Amino acid sequence: MKKHNFSAGPCILPKEVMQKASEAVLDLDGIGLSLIEISHRSKEFVAIMEKARSLALELLGLEGKGYQAVFLQGGASMQFLMTAYNLLEKKAGYVNTGTWSQKAIKEARLFGEIVEVASSQEQNFNHIPKGYKVPSDLDYLHLTSNNTIFGTQIKEFPKTDVPLVCDMSSDIFSRQLDFSKFDLIYAGAQKNMGPAGTTLVVVKEDILGKVTRKIPSMLDYSVHISKDSMFNTPAVFPVYVSMLTMQWLKDLGGIAAIEEINERKANLIYSEIELNPVFSGYAAKEDRSTMNATFNITDDALKDMFDAMCKEAGISGINGHRSVGGYRASMYNALPIESVGVLVDIMSELEKKG
Ligand code: PLP
Repeated sequence: MKKHNFSAGPCILPKEVMQKASEAVLDLDGIGLSLIEISHRSKEFVAIMEKARSLALELLGLEGKGYQAVFLQGGASMQFLMTAYNLLEKKAGYVNTGTWSQKAIKEARLFGEIVEVASSQEQNFNHIPKGYKVPSDLDYLHLTSNNTIFGTQIKEFPKTDVPLVCDMSSDIFSRQLDFSKFDLIYAGAQKNMGPAGTTLVVVKEDILGKVTRKIPSMLDYSVHISKDSMFNTPAVFPVYVSMLTMQWLKDLGGIAAIEEINERKANLIYSEIELNPVFSGYAAKEDRSTMNATFNITDDALKDMFDAMCKEAGISGINGHRSVGGYRASMYNALPIESVGVLVDIMSELEKKG
């Protein structure tokens, strides 16, 4: 039975990428050896790493602009502390838009003074705070572009002269932005890019080397950059699959092409949520995420019927996160628009039955 995977991750990838990745585990491009058994110093893997690094910069429009891309381990969670370790001398600002921002704040507090510049915590993160002032004496301002759990997404980024650091784990490569406004972008691979196990970090080189503390080699961005992202054994399989996904995206027409598809998917589900009295959206309309749509059922008596209809249609992974409840339809880059169509048809059928 065809499945429609609305799971929040990890990880949703195009079928052709999965196919090629599975073949490479047996035999990488006909060399007679598996991707995961060749040396990471072999010419084959060095070429894969270089391609992954350059595709990341190319897709983001950051080639030749003083940025470096590296693939690190430890997940996005490691970046919560690594960003502060490398960039926080005295004081940094954080916009608190949900669970992942809070975790980033907690780690950064180990390294210096943290100012919570704005927060939507009082409304259980159902919107993105706006109109706040960014102090000019910050070492950096940290943002979470897409709040995977709450289904909110920053549409307009603050204008400020302080360096911008952004956790783009759940919407990297999904929409066009002027990425040169950011000084450091990080993203765990496992939503739009590849299997869990590697994290893309794109950093403007001239913001590094400014803190006075000593940084352990594994946590030092400059060390990873100087070793071409091969300071230690990289996560070869996740990096390879990420490279394939980025190539897939480039062939599709890049971020501009996927953004159009993502908007169509989001419009489809949000119009249904708006028009159908059986459902209500969780996130404020202007902040709704194109990646994760969060919604509730207004009549609890219909819940079992809805769940059964979803199951019957092969829809999986739409239960909401425990801190929000209800439902969450995650629509990452690789989710076909047809899957959103199947879900929306069920939602409107439920209205007729209810
Ligand atoms: N940041 C965001 C926005 C996320 O959605 C997640 C995980 O879903 C993380 C950070 C944590 O990523 P990891 O599990 O790779 O540490």
